[in-house]
Amino acid sequence: MPRSEPIKAVRGVRDILPAEMPVWRAAQAGAAAVARRYGYEEIITPIIEHAELIERVGEDTDAVAKELYRFDDRGGRNLALRPEATAGVVRAYFEGALNQGAQPSRLYLFGPMFRYDRPQKGRYRQFYQFNVEAIGSAAPGLDTEVVELAGDWLNEVGLQDLRLELNTIGDGKCRPPYLERLKEYYRPLKSQLGGDSQLRLERNPLRLLDSKVPQEQPFKNGAPKIIDHLCDECAEHWSSVRRLLDAASIEYQLNPYLVRGLDYYTRTVFEFYPGGATGQQDALASGGRYDGLAEAEGWPSTPGVGFAGGLDRVTELIAAAGSELTTSSPADVLVLPDGELAVEAAEVARICRAVRSVAVDYEAKSLRAKMRSANKLGARWVVLISAEDAARRVAQLREMSTGDQVELAWVELPTRLA
Ligand code: AMP
Repeated sequence: MPRSEPIKAVRGVRDILPAEMPVWRAAQAGAAAVARRYGYEEIITPIIEHAELIERVGEDTDAVAKELYRFDDRGGRNLALRPEATAGVVRAYFEGALNQGAQPSRLYLFGPMFRYDRPQKGRYRQFYQFNVEAIGSAAPGLDTEVVELAGDWLNEVGLQDLRLELNTIGDGKCRPPYLERLKEYYRPLKSQLGGDSQLRLERNPLRLLDSKVPQEQPFKNGAPKIIDHLCDECAEHWSSVRRLLDAASIEYQLNPYLVRGLDYYTRTVFEFYPGGATGQQDALASGGRYDGLAEAEGWPSTPGVGFAGGLDRVTELIAAAGSELTTSSPADVLVLPDGELAVEAAEVARICRAVRSVAVDYEAKSLRAKMRSANKLGARWVVLISAEDAARRVAQLREMSTGDQVELAWVELPTRLA
């Protein structure tokens, strides 16, 4: 008979195994605790959205143009696996009538995102984000608030050595004329640009500023900076955000080349990196203002600001920092019946679960083999049951670390284990 290969995971995705869970739980618990401390409420939105929702708000971005997981469902609907969460959260804000409640709506979300990018360390096709969104206010205080929240989260999970980069990208009023200047600057250089940048020159010139192509780096220095071309409103907003960050003693570096591929982003953009890291794929959290998003989705124009933190990268860093988090045994107690005592073993386990986590070894194997399983599991106690014990409704409770063993009635077990 031909033997087929075992079926492995899809390229670019991975399993988060139990041994990694303490770090994941710490990253998520820290995120939820910090978000709640700032008055944010949790929301869950679907992983699938109409492809049109995603495409309308990001046609010129890599995440949508090149990396979108798009498919037709059985009813012929054109759907996408979300590449980011903000579009869906803003949709939910209107559909769920959160726009009728207290403004701004402060929301946070955990969940998987999907991008068909080239996989490498720190870059997966299914990855997880912690998202924070404040929708319904244009106040600069909120830009600072989400920056501060992101920093607090990273600190809370033990990442202290961070670099915050900050920029503004203007709005629908001052960005278009700025983009014209940028195009004028780059047009004579077109033949010296790479293929992607040549296309971007006319379609999405802002992206020329965050190009990673080595030969294009020298051109950036002479490029016009949007900071010098802000309209009065954007300049005022920008100076307020910076004043508030200074008042909060939040250190940042101005990076005139920090932009967003998504058109609906306006004004503030920011990114947190581990100290010393330079590559884009090292960013731990990225965010900014998106005052144009709601309208791009067909809803009434509504401002918003937020960020997305990458749980895959944050957990990798926490693990690399060798934090104290260790895996605990999945069960404190292992019930080891001798022979055909499944009914009795299940009953004893049920009794002990009143006070402890309990597993049962139902396999028919020697007592010695069962004790090996108990050691592997890391159980603190084993409860041994023989046929004679079962008949008298007693068991032998053994403490693994000392080897001490006592006979107890089943009903006495919870008091002893508590
Ligand atoms: P973005 O939505 O591209 O601004 O990304 C927000 C954050 O999500 C980044 O700062 C990363 O930490 C994380 N991230 C983005 N893309 C990936 C990916 N392919 N794999 C793992 N993490 C990612």
